Amino acid sequence: MTFFFAFFLSVSGFLFTFATINTTSNMNLNLTSTINFDHIRNRALRKRVVDLCLATGKPVLKLSTRDYIEHDMSDLIDQFGSAGLVNIEVFNILQHTITGWPGGKPNADDSTRPERALPYPKRVVVFSPHPDDDVISMGGTIRRLVQQKHDVHIAYETSGNIAVGDEEVTRYMHFINGFNKLFADGADEVISRKYKEIKDFMKLKQVGDLDSRDVLTIKGLIRRGEARNACAYNHIPKSRIHFLDLPFYESGRIEKNPLCEADVRIVQRLLADVRPHQIFVAADLADPHGTHRVCTDAVLAAIDEERRIGANWLSDCRVWMYRGAWSEWEIENIEMCVPMSPEELREKRNAILRHQSQMESAPFLGNDERLFWQRAEDRNKATARLYDDLGLACYEAMEAFAEYRI
Ligand SMILES: [Zn+2]
Repeated sequence: MTFFFAFFLSVSGFLFTFATINTTSNMNLNLTSTINFDHIRNRALRKRVVDLCLATGKPVLKLSTRDYIEHDMSDLIDQFGSAGLVNIEVFNILQHTITGWPGGKPNADDSTRPERALPYPKRVVVFSPHPDDDVISMGGTIRRLVQQKHDVHIAYETSGNIAVGDEEVTRYMHFINGFNKLFADGADEVISRKYKEIKDFMKLKQVGDLDSRDVLTIKGLIRRGEARNACAYNHIPKSRIHFLDLPFYESGRIEKNPLCEADVRIVQRLLADVRPHQIFVAADLADPHGTHRVCTDAVLAAIDEERRIGANWLSDCRVWMYRGAWSEWEIENIEMCVPMSPEELREKRNAILRHQSQMESAPFLGNDERLFWQRAEDRNKATARLYDDLGLACYEAMEAFAEYRI
């Protein structure tokens, strides 16, 4: 336990600082339960017309008066004047969700774009619950934001240390022990001792046993290295990579500790430092162990706290929600859809592949046989196909976002 705290304090300067913020006892720590989409213009209309397209196999602009009448939707014809006018209304709404400028397009009319043109460049914080959710869920969008010269920060909320296989630890331990032997003639006693201790621990470890704190620390370190590698591939400098290591996650087991004020303060400190114009959060609230939901709650609670103390960066900030590897937004909730070319999709795949510990051998992959890059590609291609089926532009793949109104 002592070692754990020594490590924790050394890697996360945030822990020292959050204690200086005034604390409250009535912080709301369960905010994702209240996410709603009532603000989306013509959401119900959009859903009804898209459902009609899917039922008839027709794109939006080819829906006829007869289609509407046969599916008990003649009220829309009465409301808009004709089937053609309903079609155009819905086509335009969907069309305006598509943008190749996720941070807004400078020097362009933004009245029908999902994101505002100014300020430019924007300070952007992408929150990633585990160290690979950023690239799995919005790798294409991250690359565009960087290419379009925004200041992109990535905040890894948890260490992800329980989702690393033991053989990864063994591989790295062999490497560092071999390195010590080759270049220092085995002189580093700490490495030699730890190598032996961990090797012995692994030998005795039974299925279901918890990892020692040393092993968990190494597993977290492996994931950090992979995340840094992926960020380097996406041209994100080290100074904009933040490892938050939220305490709620550090139970060493699948069941996590409850979200607490310390978690929120760490996130709040980052937001107060960066003062972002755009925040991206995970809203894949069905992820297997509930970690994504807790991570998003931490961000929303931190925003609430910033609002409570009158932080003025909030008046010029938008929050976008992405979904992870498990599901996509329902089309009526999509407010921004960022296209990818075949080459851009390949680049996204390459960033996901930087997370080598998360391939076949990773624990907790679930029943889905596909690797994470395959799940992401299948989903992004399906979104593009849906837009194509509805008669909009036909892209290779698309990443979709919904807005969270703060
Ligand atoms: Zn995740």
